[in-house]
Amino acid sequence: MKLYHKIVIGLALGLGAGLVFGENATVLKPIGDIFIRCLKLIVMPLILATLINGVASAGDIRKVGRVGMKTLIYFMVTTAIAVGLGLLVANVMHPGLGLTLGKVEAVTRHEPVTVAQMLVNMVPTNPIDALAEGRALQVIVFALLFGAALSLTGEKGEPIRRFFESLAEVMLKLTDIVINMAPVGVFALIAWTAGKYGADILLPMLKVILAVAITSALHILFSYSAIVALVARISPLDFMKKALEPALVAISTCSSAAAFPFSMRAQRQLGVPEKISGFTLPLALTINMDGTALYQAVGAIFVADAFGMHLSLMQQATVVLTAVLASVGTAGIPGSGLVMLTLVLESVGLPLEGIAIMAGIDRVLDMFRTVTNVVGDNTSGVVVAALEGELDREMCRTPLDQLEDA
Ligand code: ASP
Repeated sequence: MKLYHKIVIGLALGLGAGLVFGENATVLKPIGDIFIRCLKLIVMPLILATLINGVASAGDIRKVGRVGMKTLIYFMVTTAIAVGLGLLVANVMHPGLGLTLGKVEAVTRHEPVTVAQMLVNMVPTNPIDALAEGRALQVIVFALLFGAALSLTGEKGEPIRRFFESLAEVMLKLTDIVINMAPVGVFALIAWTAGKYGADILLPMLKVILAVAITSALHILFSYSAIVALVARISPLDFMKKALEPALVAISTCSSAAAFPFSMRAQRQLGVPEKISGFTLPLALTINMDGTALYQAVGAIFVADAFGMHLSLMQQATVVLTAVLASVGTAGIPGSGLVMLTLVLESVGLPLEGIAIMAGIDRVLDMFRTVTNVVGDNTSGVVVAALEGELDREMCRTPLDQLEDA
């Protein structure tokens, strides 16, 4: 049996266990937490090693710049599409209308970060500190600079280059080991989620859950399929099959960072060379959050409806802009999209108390956000590799069961 079969079974069994045992199933959470921690411990060294390797072996620094530009433009375009879709679905469904609000708790203000501050914060003052604290964007900046310097150092830098090449290999091997925990980890996490969130919590918020679910499905099935078919010129079905593993891990862990090692593996299976995915994926992990962005669009309309307010077209345009920026600042961990929603609500003068209403069901909304984020991350590598003429379409077409490491 292939790994993805086992993961699907783990997910189904977890759902069953959660529904049958209810609250009692939450005792399984520690198993899920161990799985997530094992995945997260891989992320920083893996990003560091693959990125340094990628830049050092690209040969041409201008090429790195070009790939970076393409990647960033791709992120902005797809994220804007995601927000647009979110606004469209929410304006049709009006998920907050008819909601009777009980007593709503006050929410503390989240200080918005300016673009200038964001840029300054990207540069680490101490690379070890950035690694230790898991500040991915800072690690990326350091790895880019270090890789560029390494490629200019020539002969004398050779031992260091070989060290990072070897470190990347070891981390990928470690990924292969940890990945085998996935069926059990997914089982425990889904059982915990299903056990914790009963119908009494979910039903009153069904409309907003549906709105986020429908928008995510539309973005994954239409936007991404169209993009991989038209730009990367590969079959969306081939793509989706290989993106399934990271997608399932995303649903159960609600963390793009935890799904990252699975995405690295999926990129290999999709025929994206490591020197491209080692670059696009870390960037995508920290910057590309289409699911979070579309959720923020739905969230803004939901809160407006719930408080009997109306968002003008101008205000909705503001939502597009802030949601794109807020999603960039969202970390790939559970619940961070909810915190960033404060920025979007504030930008159009909506009451922050709206956050308190959404907090109760955030885990469920996070499942949809994260799966969209992670599938989006995987499209970026495929698209950029295709644009660079480096996508191995033969590999992409090869069914998973014929690939050695599947
Ligand atoms: N949980 C999401 C992720 O890891 C981020 C979010 O909360 O929106 O991608």
